[in-house]
Amino acid sequence: MSLIVQKYGGTSVGTVERIQAVAKRVQKTVAQGHSVVVVVSAMGKTTDGLVKLAHDISAQPSRREMDMLLSTGEQVSIALLSMALQELGQPAISLTGAQVGIVTEAEHTRARILNIDPERVERCLLDGKVVVVAGFQGISNSTDLEITTLGRGGSDTSAVALAAALRADVCEIYTDVPGILTTDPRLVPDAQLMDEITCDEMLELASLGAKVLHPRAVEIARNYGVMLVVRSSWTDEPGTRVVSPFNEGRSLEGLEIAHPVDAVELDTNQAKVALLRVPDHPGIAARLFGEIALQDLDVDLVIQSIHEGNTNDIAFTVTQSSLNQAEAVAEAIAPSLRSHDAALDEAEVMVQAQMAKVSIAGAGMIGRPGVAAQMFTTLAKAGVNIQMISTSEVKVSCAIARDDCDRAVEALCDAFHIASSTLASHSSTPVPEADFPPVRGAALDRNQARLAVRSVPDRPGMAAQIFTRLATHGVSVDMIIQSQRCRLLDGTTTRDIAFTVTQADAEMAQQVLRADQAELGYGEVLVDPAIAKVSVVGMGMVHRPGVAAKMFQALAKQDINIQMIATSEIKISCLVSEEEGVQALQAVHAAFGLSGSQRIQVPA
Ligand code: ADP
Ligand code: ASP
Ligand code: MG
Repeated sequence: MSLIVQKYGGTSVGTVERIQAVAKRVQKTVAQGHSVVVVVSAMGKTTDGLVKLAHDISAQPSRREMDMLLSTGEQVSIALLSMALQELGQPAISLTGAQVGIVTEAEHTRARILNIDPERVERCLLDGKVVVVAGFQGISNSTDLEITTLGRGGSDTSAVALAAALRADVCEIYTDVPGILTTDPRLVPDAQLMDEITCDEMLELASLGAKVLHPRAVEIARNYGVMLVVRSSWTDEPGTRVVSPFNEGRSLEGLEIAHPVDAVELDTNQAKVALLRVPDHPGIAARLFGEIALQDLDVDLVIQSIHEGNTNDIAFTVTQSSLNQAEAVAEAIAPSLRSHDAALDEAEVMVQAQMAKVSIAGAGMIGRPGVAAQMFTTLAKAGVNIQMISTSEVKVSCAIARDDCDRAVEALCDAFHIASSTLASHSSTPVPEADFPPVRGAALDRNQARLAVRSVPDRPGMAAQIFTRLATHGVSVDMIIQSQRCRLLDGTTTRDIAFTVTQADAEMAQQVLRADQAELGYGEVLVDPAIAKVSVVGMGMVHRPGVAAKMFQALAKQDINIQMIATSEIKISCLVSEEEGVQALQAVHAAFGLSGSQRIQVPA
């Protein structure tokens, strides 16, 4: 007999009939001889309705009262589902997050789970009951025992955390689509179902806008080796397995907060090529990386900062041995990249051979803005200047001068309590097996805004100060990009830094940075909310030339201008204008052959 945790999302319990259908499915699982814990979301769009009610009363409702309000949604569905099970003759009991001992931090509306005491659930299971648990909520570890919620979409996280705590055999996420698809079928009707995806890939996709799974749920599955499956509530199809590479059997203490960083990595085989002042119009990145791909050169990081005037800078890294070839390609196309504006110079190529990349890696850094900031601060204190930054959900990498790398690594190992003997001497991302598709899926995030800080003095510690201040205000930052070009202002060399945040945080981020403008000595702080981020994700893109080129070419063919580019080892993200977002997603999805003939039915 095995123990199964099943989670049903809002649409799946949206009506009385659907709740009854869920009860039948649960009963069937019990009849097959399994113990079942069910986690449910609020019915249909209940949570959205509650949020709206709150905003009808207050422009900025208190976060504590929001938790009090929003947690009621799940309480309705657990009671109803439990009744539906009892109607079928199946003993069942509904329990709130607090009653099953889901203890969280006292951070309202975005609490992390600290631990789960499975004792009561285990007792109820022994009594032969199905235990129906309210997702999305917990109880704080403070003396006041506050009701907390985990953040929107958090029922997935409740389910996987319970599965980890109960050492369940499998956690099944039942939803309104047949499983994880190559992209959102509501935006791309010919998205296809996948049988399997790795946790690392899913973590990226979930964080880049694929809301089919809460990223933190994937993180817990990965850290605790929970077998995770996403399936349809309406059919018996097997759905998609989310596979984790290892099962460490970690302690459940500090469940979501232990270990922000698992490893420090170093790659000394890097060289940088930068093209400065390339015209800011569609097709430039496509041409450059098309040529690079023709030479079969593997690019690692690619970044393009925000434009300045009518031109952009694009920089990328390659291995040392590819540098001469990459430089030759860039030199060859530079003269033809003259801007239409005759007053502007032609593009200029800059190379730097002796580069290294230091990274911190770990799933525990998700949604914790302080971790990247701590890395920048640590490097600044060690006197290391950061030349390029690349971020993903589980890794922050900085390109630095090779001469700095010993100091950088020592300082990072010290700061994040990593034994330097465990240091991965080059990127630990495994070379994928040949049958890994270069791109597994694509995602669109329309919820982001771009901020630009102009003319930041180019000295160690500036990124640290900027991102520490944002972290202190709880602002999570994504896609951090420093411009390659320097500008001399009153004798000080300066660069621009651009990054993205969620739209909800944009105004606050701008205020925080404006307040410090005089003290830190940078220029204007600009916000653009009308952007969309389109991304592709796949383990198979590691060491496989041409993937970035293909993405840029797909966008160029649609005449879509790329405003910023940021990559990590397993993802490429491009910022485009908001109105071109869906078209960009469709073009990229098709370009990587992800489209198919299967038509996914999506309920309204
Ligand atoms: P639930 O209420 O069951 O938690 P959600 O609405 O949170 O459901 O998540 C399911 C939705 O996620 C789907 O209806 C789909 O529109 C969207 N989605 C976005 N990206 C993907 C993807 N790659 N695969 C499947 N669904 C996706
Ligand atoms: N009901 C919550 C929400 O809508 C949690 C969830 O459904 O996962 O965000
Ligand atoms: Mg959901």
